[in-house]
Amino acid sequence: MELTADCSRCVGLCCVVLPFSRSADFAFDKPAGTPCRHLAADHRCGIHDRLGESGMRGCVAYDCFGAGQSVTETDRIPHFLVVEQVHEIAWYLADATDRGADVAALVAETERLAAAARPSQQHVDDLRSRVAPALRAVAEAARSAYDGRRDLAGADLAGGDHRGADLRGADLRGAVLLGADLGGADLTDADLLGADLRGASLGGADLSRSLYLTRRQLGSARTRPTDAGTPKRLSEPWTRAAAGRGGDDDGVGRGGHRLGAEGPQELREHDQHRDQQDAVRAPADQHDTRRS
Ligand code: SF4
Repeated sequence: MELTADCSRCVGLCCVVLPFSRSADFAFDKPAGTPCRHLAADHRCGIHDRLGESGMRGCVAYDCFGAGQSVTETDRIPHFLVVEQVHEIAWYLADATDRGADVAALVAETERLAAAARPSQQHVDDLRSRVAPALRAVAEAARSAYDGRRDLAGADLAGGDHRGADLRGADLRGAVLLGADLGGADLTDADLLGADLRGASLGGADLSRSLYLTRRQLGSARTRPTDAGTPKRLSEPWTRAAAGRGGDDDGVGRGGHRLGAEGPQELREHDQHRDQQDAVRAPADQHDTRRS
């Protein structure tokens, strides 16, 4: 099951299916199901090499977890939004597998649903209800190796100065880290499922062993960690950029995209897009997952 987007095998579904609103992340409004004005006839982005300066940073951060090419190649385009959720769940399960968790049955179930001819939202919700406890158990096991780890799940840490902080094993699920400075922080074994990292500074931070980190989160950060501080599967080349739609010029996890001068407040004030996407994509963990 492919969990890395390959836009060269997709027909620009994210640029058609998803809605967005004029905000810090998008320069204009676009309703769901309407092709973006910048989407070319060959399904490529006409402004790919200048997305950031064109006010389309949300496109840089977006990742479909490989759902786009899957539904395109199997003639299941109407099921894109559902399959995308299944691929995201598979992404998190891969982390759990890497930690030695016995989630083979859940992985198999996820793969079957990802390939189903008619996957339904109910199927996804049922799967999610079984996956969420497994993901949480993995995170708790990792956290147990540390004494006095802080429970920061859902905490509002926007704009905070956490430079060089020891955040090993921290529970940062759903934490709001908008514009936070995490430069040089150690996030080994930290649970980042759904943490909002938009505009965060991650330069010099160690996220190489963080749990449940996604391309969306890295793509939304102001600055990113080095390759050494990035989980291996997130530092690998991303064909999305080569396809000329979304992504940045050098692949996720390495330099590239930066937010502009917006601070946490400005970002907060432009959360409508996120709210819209949350409405169509339920979280992998109902308690705390937020979209990046
Ligand atoms: S990647 Fe390009 S074509 Fe797609 S939504 Fe963004 S600006 Fe539009």
